[in-house]
Amino acid sequence: MNAVMQTYGRIPIAFERGEGAYLISTEGKRYLDGAGGIAVVSMGHSHPHLVAALSEQVQRLWHVSNLYEIPEQTRFAERLAGASFAGASFFCNSGAEAMEGAIKIARKYQAVNGAPERFRAVTLEGSFHGRTLATLGAAQNPKHLDGFGPPADGFDIVPPNNLNELRAAIGPQTAAIIAEPLQGEGGIRPLDRDYMQALRATADEFGILLVLDEVQTGFGRTGKLFAHEWTGVTPDIMACAKGIAGGFPCGAVLASERVAAAMSPGTHGSTFGGNPLAMAAANATLDILLEDGFLGEVERIGTLLGDGLVALAGRYRDIIGSVRGSGLMLGMVVREPHTNGALGDLAREHGLLTVVAGENVLRLLPPLTIREPEVEVILASLESACADLNAKG
Ligand SMILES: *Cc1c(COP(=O)(O)O)cnc(C)c1O
Repeated sequence: MNAVMQTYGRIPIAFERGEGAYLISTEGKRYLDGAGGIAVVSMGHSHPHLVAALSEQVQRLWHVSNLYEIPEQTRFAERLAGASFAGASFFCNSGAEAMEGAIKIARKYQAVNGAPERFRAVTLEGSFHGRTLATLGAAQNPKHLDGFGPPADGFDIVPPNNLNELRAAIGPQTAAIIAEPLQGEGGIRPLDRDYMQALRATADEFGILLVLDEVQTGFGRTGKLFAHEWTGVTPDIMACAKGIAGGFPCGAVLASERVAAAMSPGTHGSTFGGNPLAMAAANATLDILLEDGFLGEVERIGTLLGDGLVALAGRYRDIIGSVRGSGLMLGMVVREPHTNGALGDLAREHGLLTVVAGENVLRLLPPLTIREPEVEVILASLESACADLNAKG
């Protein structure tokens, strides 16, 4: 029996080291990392600033627990407050945990403000919020729930981009609306700008909270620090993880001052959350994200890559349908009978790593540090993969 529990269908490649946008396999083959560890390795592999910050921290102090003050955590939280809607942040270790925290904070806010009956959330079909019991209940993906008993109560799911259905699902027990501004695992499916604005207006109208899951879209992925900035909509609570610390496990729940005030000592916690090592990685990542012009470059390079993908789709109309996404979170809809998996396998043979998503989409989530040469490599690999797929018929 394999000693690692078989919860993943793994590709039989292992990597020995990473250099910027590239991964080098144990067999010495170089791959352009177009998946970025699933939107995690935002600064590329072994970024000198991150290596220096973590090396310094590794030698000084790893972990103390949240029984004590953690100055690196305070500093990161203050910087987030300065760069976003957040009044305060809670730190954890993963996206699912951040979403669990977001759900708990929404419920607690209602309870503290005289409405303890408000514990439900309206969620959107095609969402992914993680693999814990509550987050599976929120997304209600039958494939993920199969065999795990009845889905956690407290979630009412509606199709995205349909305001009437959303309003109809809000009742006297509703505490919040939960949405990804751009659905990642679901297939790089954007929410309409108007719909996002309507989510905000509807939440205000009913006295409920808007919770955004920016676990994948946050920390520069779409060319803004947070994807909601594209829509002019500000959430009350936001979950982050993936790219937040450039590859070190870290999650965060950001909340407005009014909402964060509902949380008092003992209401929530995490042993590892926000420890000095994670915060060193997060602060170093934020240093780069907030550098003058960095996000502008993500937007520019994202547009360049996106335009290249659209051109590719024009040359291979039988293989690629539409191209969607924003910044360096891009997806190509693969046309049946072709599959995203088959196209991804061929791209890998041509030296490019990608990741599949729902709706037969092949996703690109490369490091935010890529520039023209890497864009050319990505497009050339995909071109070769499409040509192979055509040749196979
Ligand atoms: C990946 C992801 C999660 C879950 O994050 P984990 O770190 O795997 O728990 C939640 N929400 C979204 C939008 C994600 O992309």
